[in-house]
Amino acid sequence: MNKYDCVIIGGGPAGLSAALTLGRARRKIAIFDNGTNRNRVTQESHGFLTRDGIKPQEFKNIASKEIKSYPSISMLDQTIIEITKNDKSGLFLVKTSENKSYMSAKVLLATGIQEEFPLPQIRQYYGKSLFSCPYCDGWELRDKPLAIIAEKEEHIKHMTKLVFNWSQDLIVFTNGHQLSDNVQSEFERKKIKLYTECVKNLHGEDSNLISIELETGEHILRSGGFVVPNFYRPNKFAKQLNCQVDENGIIITDGAGRTTAAGIYVAGETEKGGASSLMIAAAEGFKTASSINLDITIDRF
Ligand SMILES: Cc1cc2nc3c(=O)[nH]c(=O)nc-3n(C[C@H](O)[C@H](O)[C@H](O)COP(=O)(O)OP(=O)(O)OC[C@H]3O[C@@H](n4cnc5c(N)ncnc54)[C@H](O)[C@@H]3O)c2cc1C
Repeated sequence: MNKYDCVIIGGGPAGLSAALTLGRARRKIAIFDNGTNRNRVTQESHGFLTRDGIKPQEFKNIASKEIKSYPSISMLDQTIIEITKNDKSGLFLVKTSENKSYMSAKVLLATGIQEEFPLPQIRQYYGKSLFSCPYCDGWELRDKPLAIIAEKEEHIKHMTKLVFNWSQDLIVFTNGHQLSDNVQSEFERKKIKLYTECVKNLHGEDSNLISIELETGEHILRSGGFVVPNFYRPNKFAKQLNCQVDENGIIITDGAGRTTAAGIYVAGETEKGGASSLMIAAAEGFKTASSINLDITIDRF
């Protein structure tokens, strides 16, 4: 069985950046990816310096090409289903859905997060006309008639105030949830309309939103907008490996990617279990890779 210095699970910007850094540090790396990166649904990625407007797949292709020039890195399109530690050898055994196994001294969890929406119909429009990050897609939707779809008051307040910077033609949909008088009057003052009725359906063409239908039968015209999803990690690896998590569900680290479980590291959105950005994830990948390399160096010096 092949033995690696580090197995990286997740080939998003966090994992890819870590792979590049570790490859350049002459470490033997296997990086696994199963193509479930959450931004695969979008046409263009914005805000990554030098790559503004790039397609997510092109971003991955460029990164993969760079990484492949380092001979100690193996890139594998496989899903990891299990990670266990051999307490005697201190090595980790990583298993794939194809029943293949790999051994490694260190493991980097960079598996990102996924979204759960207040309405399942949002999925059809997500990445084309409905988004969750105004910094990523606010510019493209500027001055358009937009919807804010969210259910919790704190989320509604935050997202509405933020998006108001890009478009003042806003309508808030709470899908059956009531808002405090305070927030209602704040919105009234800014001429932001509010619908607290349940949403029945979304209508559009080719994933471009046209209208939002309420339970009352009313159709409200909107050409795009922002939603606040719930985010979750797509696996239980951190828990199974005894990485401590704080009361907010954030994986506890030393600030440089080392979890509380020896040999297990984390980078990118999976650490906080919440949304960030390509640039932040890539930077975290670099930082965590430096910790991994330093720890291997000290272990073996
Ligand atoms: C619609 C949309 C638009 C966005 N637009 C922008 C934008 O314009 N600019 C910006 O900066 N950010 C944008 N983002 C956010 C950006 O995609 C994330 O911040 C970033 O991808 C997080 O990087 P990551 O490496 O942590 O996770 P990811 O990019 O999600 O990568 C995680 C990887 O892990 C892999 N994986 C998961 N589980 C397994 C497993 N068990 N085995 C093998 N592989 C596994 C997945 O295939 C995935 O590729 C957008 C997100 C969405 C949803």
